[in-house]
Amino acid sequence: MDFDYAALGLKAGIEIHQQLNTREKLFCHCPTVLRDVTEHNGEFYRYLRATVSEMGEMDRAAREEMMVMRPFTYYAYDTTCLAENDEEPPTPMNPEALDLVLTFARMMGMTPVEQVHIMRKMVIDGSNTSGFQRTALVALNGSLPMGARIESICLEEEAAQRVEDTIFSLDRLGIPLAEITTAPDMHTPEAVKDVASYIGMLLRSTMKVKRGIGTIRQDVNISIRDGARVEIKGVQELRLIEEVVRREVQRQVSLLSIRDELLARHASVDEASHDVTALFKKTGSAILKRAKAIHAICLRGFAGMVGREIQPGRRLGSEMSDYAKKCGVGGLFHTDELPAYGVTEAEVASLREAVNAGPDDCVIIVADTKQKVVCAIGLIRKRAEMAMAGVPEETRKMLEEGSSAYMRPLPGAARMYPETDVLPVTVTAEYYSSLVLPELLSDKADRFVRDMGLDAALAHQMVYSKRCVLFEETVRRGVRPTLAATTL
Ligand SMILES: [Zn+2]
Repeated sequence: MDFDYAALGLKAGIEIHQQLNTREKLFCHCPTVLRDVTEHNGEFYRYLRATVSEMGEMDRAAREEMMVMRPFTYYAYDTTCLAENDEEPPTPMNPEALDLVLTFARMMGMTPVEQVHIMRKMVIDGSNTSGFQRTALVALNGSLPMGARIESICLEEEAAQRVEDTIFSLDRLGIPLAEITTAPDMHTPEAVKDVASYIGMLLRSTMKVKRGIGTIRQDVNISIRDGARVEIKGVQELRLIEEVVRREVQRQVSLLSIRDELLARHASVDEASHDVTALFKKTGSAILKRAKAIHAICLRGFAGMVGREIQPGRRLGSEMSDYAKKCGVGGLFHTDELPAYGVTEAEVASLREAVNAGPDDCVIIVADTKQKVVCAIGLIRKRAEMAMAGVPEETRKMLEEGSSAYMRPLPGAARMYPETDVLPVTVTAEYYSSLVLPELLSDKADRFVRDMGLDAALAHQMVYSKRCVLFEETVRRGVRPTLAATTL
C-alpha cells in the first residue's frame, strides 16, 4: 500500500544507536567482547522497582512495567566484573568512547556541551541490573548534507542482551553506545532510509564502530496529521526501515478511520464487566476450559472494528491483546472472530445474551486467574476508549517484516535523574577543534573511482569491507587496484 505522504502530513525522525568498538566498556575496564551464553560462569537474580523522581513523580512507562513484578536472571562471565552486577561503583567515563562521540559530533557540525554530565535514565524492563541506564548528552544541533537536522548526540551504556523472557546476559551491558537523534524532518519513507543510511556511513568512516547484526539499531518516530507520535524500537536492518514507516502510516490511517466510524455509530464502552466462567463449563476450547475465571466486556458499536486489519497481520484486537498481556494473560477472544478456536455458535449466543450485546456490539473475553483477568479487562477497556480518540502515543517494538506491537506508553520527563557516582567531564573548544576527522567512506569510494579507476560498485563494496585497510596497503605496494580489489 502506498500513500500520499505529503497530504497525510507525515513527520518522521530517527534515533540511531551504534555500539562503539572501544577497548574497554564505558564505566568499567572490562573488554567490549560478546560471549556465547553457554560460557557464563555465574548467575544471579534481581527484582527491579521504579523509584519516584526528585520532582516526586513516577514515570508512567516504569509504573506500567511494575504491574507484574518478576525476578530477572543475569548471566555473568569471566569478562564481566562487579560493575555490571551493580555491586561496585562505576569508573570515570571511558575517554576513548567520549573522543569518538565528539568526533562524530564534529563530523556533523554539532556544538559540544561545555561539561558532559552523566544522567540515570530509569529502565526497569530487566535490561540492566541497577534499574537505570547511564546516559550523557555530548553535543547539540548539527545537520546533514541532505538537509535533515541532528538534534543531539549522547553517549550511553548498552543494555544487557535478552536471552529469554526474563534472562539477560551481562557481556553486552556497558559497551559504549552513541545515540544520535534527528529532528522530525523526514516526510517520506525513502527519506528516512536515506538519512539512516548516511549516518551509518558516517559512523563507519571512523573505523571504530562495532559491525554486524544488532550493533546498530534504529528507533523511528512517526506521526501523521491527527495521529500521534509513536516510537518504534529496534529496527536492525536498513532494508526494513521504509517498510516500518509505511506500515505505521497505514496503522495510523486505519485507526483514524476506525475512530471516525465509532464516533458515527455513537459507540461506547461498558463500565461493567461480567463473570461468564459458568457459560464455558463444558466448552470444547481447551484454554477456556482450563481457566479459573473468564470475564467479558461489551464494546457497544464496535462490531467488525475489533477484527479489522490495521496493518499486515495486525488488527485492533491485536492492540487490545498487547495491553491485556501486560497483566500476564495470554491474550483475548472477541466476537468478531468467534465462533472459532473450539468455541461454538451456541456459546457465542449465550455470551452475547449474558452481556446484553446487540448485533452492532463486540464482546471480548479473557480467561486466566481472577486477578489477572480483572487487570486485563481494565486495560482492554482503556484501549477501547483510546480507539474512540484515535491513535495513542506509544512506544512499540518492531515485529518481523515491519509491523509493530505495543510495548509501553511514551516515557515522560520523570524518567531522568543525575548520576552522582561519576564526575562530569569538561570539553574545551581547543580540544574539540583539535579532533582529527576521518575521510568519509563516500568520499573514499569516490577517490577509489577517480584515482584508481575502480568501478563504482566495486569501490563501494571495498570501502565497506573489513579488508579496506589491507586493500589500500596493497595498492601502495604497487598491486593494480582492480586486481587487488577483486582478489580481496
Ligand atoms: Zn566490568
